Amino acid sequence: MIKSLLIANRGEIACRVIRTARRMGIRTVAVYSDADRNSLHVRSADEAVHIGPSPARESYLVGERIIAAAKATGAEGIHPGYGFLSENAEFAQAVIDAGLVWVGPKPASITAMGLKDAAKARMIAAGVPVTPGYLGDDQSPDRLQAEADAIGYPVLIKAVAGGGGKGMRRVERAEDFAESLTSCRREAASSFGDDRVLIEKYILSPRHIEVQVFGDSHGNVVHLFERDCSLQRRHQKVIEEAPAPGMDEATREAVCGAAVRAAKAVDYEGAGTIEFIADGSEGLRADRIWFMEMNTRLQVEHPVTEEITGVDLVEWQLRVASGEVLPKRQDELSINGWAMEARLYAEDPAKGFLPSIGRLEILDFNTSERVETGVGSSDEISTFYDPMIAKLIVHRPDRDETITELARAVGNIMIWPVRTNAGFLHAALTHQDFLAANVDTGFIGKNEDVLINRPNPSEKLWLYAARELSSNFEWTPLNGFRLNAPYYDRMAIGLDGTSRSVKLESCTFPDPLSGGLNVSSYESAGGLVVIHHGHGYFFKHQMRGTGQNVQQDGAILSPMPGKVISVDVAAGQTVTKGQKLLVLEAMKMEHALVAPFDGIVAELNVEAGAQVQVEAVLVQVTKAD
Ligand code: ADP
Repeated sequence: MIKSLLIANRGEIACRVIRTARRMGIRTVAVYSDADRNSLHVRSADEAVHIGPSPARESYLVGERIIAAAKATGAEGIHPGYGFLSENAEFAQAVIDAGLVWVGPKPASITAMGLKDAAKARMIAAGVPVTPGYLGDDQSPDRLQAEADAIGYPVLIKAVAGGGGKGMRRVERAEDFAESLTSCRREAASSFGDDRVLIEKYILSPRHIEVQVFGDSHGNVVHLFERDCSLQRRHQKVIEEAPAPGMDEATREAVCGAAVRAAKAVDYEGAGTIEFIADGSEGLRADRIWFMEMNTRLQVEHPVTEEITGVDLVEWQLRVASGEVLPKRQDELSINGWAMEARLYAEDPAKGFLPSIGRLEILDFNTSERVETGVGSSDEISTFYDPMIAKLIVHRPDRDETITELARAVGNIMIWPVRTNAGFLHAALTHQDFLAANVDTGFIGKNEDVLINRPNPSEKLWLYAARELSSNFEWTPLNGFRLNAPYYDRMAIGLDGTSRSVKLESCTFPDPLSGGLNVSSYESAGGLVVIHHGHGYFFKHQMRGTGQNVQQDGAILSPMPGKVISVDVAAGQTVTKGQKLLVLEAMKMEHALVAPFDGIVAELNVEAGAQVQVEAVLVQVTKAD
């Protein structure tokens, strides 16, 4: 067994590998770029080596620097993680040539599976069913069009060198083929430096089923059952589970058997994944599952397999790379329960899933479930790398319970001010079709509007926010002091430009949290972040006199009981946003109330000197059109 290991990666996967290595008594060496100087993976390793500037192509993708770092620190082996150099056969060979142990398959196996067309051809030879389509050398547009016509629409054009969901075009009709081909080629040339394509039948109701395989250097290959990764957004996996819902024993045997044949066909060593696409229109059937591609590395979603099999896949990788025999035979492996993983991203679903970068002021996963992450509190999400913050993994006896617990876990994640997809994940996990396992890869696309929608806060949520804000509010000596004035018993709170006046009494009894309102909250710069079902709500104590105390419809409410000391506009007058409407005196202070938008004073209900109650409509402004 190797005694020291360099991890040529960053983030959660580097941390994940380090954890197992440490448990096995292996010394760990991290590598890092400028941006990752203080990252969790650097802090977790026994030693760390700086390998260059922040952009990956100047650091994590520079093979020589990584090998030099291994040499300099005396690391015996290199684990590539996923992404970066993990499927780079040249790098694997360079590692081996440098006399180091490569924790991965033989370079020849990587090459054999690297291009989609060559891989498919090999699989056909090995008797593995592949998606019907055209793989030929003749790349003339006419020939490709003729093949597509023969396959029948819809078809999928795929870059042979493609990956990560890039370089694919779905074509619905023969008339559209030529144009899609041109644009697919252009993307393939610029992204992969290879504009060759293959044509596949577009599978309707497609489900993504993949099989974890493992080989050793003694010729043994086993599978560790399947995963279902059908919940995807734009071909990127979002939620993965194992086993696949609706997989019967016969079908499982067929697909897992095909996966083992596929791995054997390329002399596979180490952890690998055979991806299949299934036509799920009538459930999973052995004759409707086809090979798509092989990933010659550990997958992001490997934890769900670990959970149901009880195998530490990283440990197996290290053992196999050190020349050991696979720790278990096929008949010693079995499925125990159900596991599901959700990928938490720093992105804002409401803004087209734009990455949300910045410092994680607050980061609390708030759960005892398995969390794989590469960041800690007050770390920064940068623009340089993948915006994945963490993976949450739940393992329970059955699928329903697994979903319930995973939904609970993602719903309680506390992250701010960086935005996340937690609310989106929660909505997906609690969607009826997902619960019924009625999901194909089009599920998110079809339901995106519903899934990204952040519901308006419930009455209870407002009350809860008011209670928390009022208990944190710094009362001035005059607060609560009453002579003739009514007791100050309400509080105006705002959320995204709307405001409500809440009776404080109603915030405490009955307790807004009774009856199972599941929330977490914390104070942040002048307000309260409340997380409910993964969605973040930023409630603010309404600052008096800032003119925020308006409803969206332009009704200017009195934020508290007081006296109008001046009225600065007349009924019917045109006003501009921010213009002073009147001044209220309350709690011995003056508060100017201003116009929320350009408009007309449609109603003026008070005059100077009037005593007003809280929430009285003082002025009504209507929008100018
Ligand atoms: P990449 O290498 O870019 O990940 P894949 O070939 O693995 O590309 O395909 C990615 C995803 O595209 C699959 O998970 C599946 O959702 C969809 N897909 C691929 N091939 C087909 C097909 N023939 N029909 C329908 N969907 C497909």
